Order: sequence, then C-alpha cells, then structure tokens
Amino acid sequence: MSEYIGVKAKTAIIGAGVTGLSAAWELTRRGEEDFVLLEGEARPGGVIQTLAAGEFLLELGPDAFLAHDPRAGHILPELKLQEEVPPQKEGSTTYIWKQGRALRLPRGWLRMAPERVTEVLTTQLISWPVKARMAREFLWGEKPNGKRAGTRSDESVADFLNPRYGREFTEQVAEPILGALFHLRPEEASLRALFPKLWEYAGSKSVSRALWREARARTHPNPGRVGIQGGMARLTDALAAKLRPGQLQCHLRIESIAPRKEGFRLRTSRGAAECERLILAAPAWSAAAMTENFDPELAGALRGIAYAPACLVHLGFEKEPRLTPGHALFVPAAVKTATRAITFVHRKYPHRAPAGAALLRLAMDASKLRDFNEAQIILMARNELGAIFGVKDEPCLSHVQRWHRAAPLLQAGHLERTREVLQRAEKYSNLALACNGVHGASVAACLQAGRMAAQKDHAQRHSTAEGRDT
Ligand SMILES: Cc1cc2nc3c(=O)[nH]c(=O)nc-3n(C[C@H](O)[C@H](O)[C@H](O)COP(=O)(O)OP(=O)(O)OC[C@H]3O[C@@H](n4cnc5c(N)ncnc54)[C@H](O)[C@@H]3O)c2cc1C
Repeated sequence: MSEYIGVKAKTAIIGAGVTGLSAAWELTRRGEEDFVLLEGEARPGGVIQTLAAGEFLLELGPDAFLAHDPRAGHILPELKLQEEVPPQKEGSTTYIWKQGRALRLPRGWLRMAPERVTEVLTTQLISWPVKARMAREFLWGEKPNGKRAGTRSDESVADFLNPRYGREFTEQVAEPILGALFHLRPEEASLRALFPKLWEYAGSKSVSRALWREARARTHPNPGRVGIQGGMARLTDALAAKLRPGQLQCHLRIESIAPRKEGFRLRTSRGAAECERLILAAPAWSAAAMTENFDPELAGALRGIAYAPACLVHLGFEKEPRLTPGHALFVPAAVKTATRAITFVHRKYPHRAPAGAALLRLAMDASKLRDFNEAQIILMARNELGAIFGVKDEPCLSHVQRWHRAAPLLQAGHLERTREVLQRAEKYSNLALACNGVHGASVAACLQAGRMAAQKDHAQRHSTAEGRDT
C-alpha cells in the first residue's frame, strides 16, 4: 500500500462490516498477515451495532443470526463465543394483526410452507374457501395455468401464490411477512431468492404435499436464529480483535478504484493508495460507486441491486404493559400504520431487558418517515402503539435508528442480476467480490461470502507465487 497507510499490504479489503471482518479472519487463519482492512466509518461492524442503555440491550441492526447454518456454523467455535449463545427459545411465535386482533401464524408459514394440517384448519387468518383451496392443492395438486416454473428464471411470490391459494392468502399472510422481513410487496419479491424450497417444488403436482413430506422426514428441527448474550456486536468485536495493530484502518473511505500494472490504485478520503489485490466487502450500492470509472459495466450490474431504508424504534418499559401474545407481531400494509413489525424483545431474548421490564423493537416503514425527525418518529411509534395496539404506558427508554440503505431488495430476477455481477467480476483474478446483496442478505450469508472471497484471494496469491517460482 502507499504512503499514509504505512503498511506494505498485498491485499486491501474494503469495508469492515461482518463480511470484511470475516474475510480478514479467514486470511489470518490461513497464515496471511499481509493485508489491510479499510473502513470509512469510525468503527468496524457495519450495520451490526449493539447499544447498552442501562440494563437494556438494544440491537440497532440484526438481532440474531443463523449460527448453526452450514454457512456460519464455524464462527462461534472459532471465536470461542459458543458460551455466549443462550439456549434457543422453543416455539418462538409470530402473530399477524387482523381486524383489531393478533392471530397466531401457523408453523412453517414464515417460509410459506404449511406444515400442520390442524393449524391450517384452525387459524382465523384465512377464510374457509382459502382453507378448502389449500386442502385441494394438498390432496390433488393444483397446476397453475401458464408457463411452468423451470422454464423461467424466476417469478414473484404473488405469481406463485395467487393461482394456488388465491389473493386472500397473499394479502393476509405473505404481504405482512414480506413487508416486515424483506421490505417487499409480494408482487415484487423473488420466489427463487427468498423461498428456494418453493421454487424447487414449483413443478411438483402439489407443492404443499412436497413440503409436508420434507418436514416429516426431518429428524432435527430447522436450526433457528440465535442472539448473542452480550449483543451481536460481540461477534464483530471478536473478529476485529483478531486483527494485528495497523491491519484495520478506520475513517478511510474509498472513493474510486483504478487498475494499474500490478494491482489497483485507490482514491481515498485521505489520498491515494495502492494494492496488488482487492476484496470488495462493501454493499453492492457502494461497490457500484467505487467501480464506476474502473468498469462501468460491472458498476451498472451492481447498481441493479436496489436497497431499502430501514427505521427501528426501541421503547423500554419498567413494567411489561398489556401486550398481544407471542414474540413478534407483523402488521399488514392495509392497516396503514408506519409500524410494520413489533418484536417483544424481553420475551424473545430475556437477557436484553431487566427482570419484569419490557423492551419493544418496532420496525417502521422508513418511506413514511422521510420528513420526520427522531422526536416525531418516537411520537408516531407511541401513538400507533396506543391507538392500534392499546399500549398507553409511558416508556422509560426510547431510541431511533435509521439506516438509509439498509437492506438489499431481493426482487424477482434477483439471482439473474447477481449472476451478471459475478460474471463481470470473474475476469479479474486479483479482485474478489463479497458484497452483501450479491451473495445474500443475512449475517450467515455475509460470513460465508467474506470467507470465500478470502479463500479466492489466498488461492490466487499462491498460484501467482508458484507461477513466478516455475
Ligand atoms: C436493521 C437490520 C436488521 C437486520 N436483521 C438481520 C437479522 O436479524 N439476521 C440476519 O442474519 N441479518 C440481518 N440483517 C442483515 C445483516 O445485518 C447484513 O446482511 C450484514 O450485517 C451486512 O454486513 P456487510 O459487512 O456486508 O455490510 P455492512 O454491515 O453494511 O458493512 C459494510 C461496511 O463497509 C463500509 N464501507 C462501505 N463503503 C465503503 C467505502 N467506499 N470505503 C470504505 N468503507 C466502506 C461501511 O462503512 C460498513 O462498515 C439486518 C440488517 C439491517 C440493516
């Protein structure tokens, strides 16, 4: 690297969120020391941020992750953090708000996979005609008209659900789930990227029977998302702690990338720098800005991945107010509140609030709050809690976190777009791409993307070295 960084590093990793930190840790594990991790902000971790407010623990970004997923299963043991994961709470329950009541979401429905016949029959979320339709699809199958899945590259969740279960299911069930979790409407959400199992079985005679069979054959429950005792930032802090002095450079924003004879020249907020190899671990929108001059087609492909803003409001109460049951409540867009989901944090993660107290995390529709300041957002959150959900108590804590480009939108055709990005990036043997949005949108996916980028970097370093030796 050049003058001011003061480190002669072969590889520069851009972005010290969990993706970049995972790449750095993988290089370290492989015995590579000659790298530098460049971060535009004051601290590493990216959107993973934990705030301790008295005895309350606020997660300002992700609150849990799939720690036992094959993409992430290595990380807690490697960082010796297993002890910090409280035992998973059994039977975490989600409710959906419908006509003034919270109705429990049947098991499997978060994945759009009805698993228990009894729960389908007894739920009040959908009407009897929809239940009859679901039963018919289960027993006899229902081949929707039009082109079969498999002959197209993707379809929207609405295009998949409407011909099978009807619009009511899409509006009552899919819409609040997709809105709360993925900032998407069913008409725009990618079936293939968000529900790969549904996509896989889309050509089956009965999708619900195929899913039901699979659920029955499962010997272990699906590993769920887990939180970390001291907060999610324990994960990124532990990764950052593995770095040697000087390997992490904060307050250093990369503005553009240009190729040079052997490697890259980086224009940064502190002047120019040079490196032989690059791992791009910034979100796709930022990677697009950096690569604009270097490879406009790659930049264009990266820009094709849109991002949504997010706004989280935390409200703490000294005593649990009268709340709806369960661990989370999703609110359909039709209710017209800015609140799209409420997590009852103290029930889901009891260690994040003092005994007897309550902590609510409201995911708000950020597009409705553009012109609001923080005090107005808190007021709106409290008004909605009071008017719609009946929570009138005075909070002892309130906090707003806004993210301007928080979540990549996995819109229909998403995997085609990411394929194009990867194909365009492939021609550079000294560049590894690990942008969230391209490789997935979760902590587990980012851990894996960072690790794989580092593996590519490591392999290329050594193949180049061998090439020079021979
Ligand atoms: C509100 C919210 C809730 C979420 N909930 C969950 C959840 O519960 N479970 C889950 O698995 N996932 C969740 N996610 C998704 C998950 O948190 C992200 O996918 C993941 O943390 C992204 O990590 P990252 O390192 O790729 O990106 P980021 O965290 O965005 O980090 C990228 C880093 O790159 C830096 N950077 C960007 N551009 C430049 C530049 N030009 N120069 C230098 N540095 C740069 C940024 O400053 C940042 O630090 C959530 C995300 C959000 C926003």
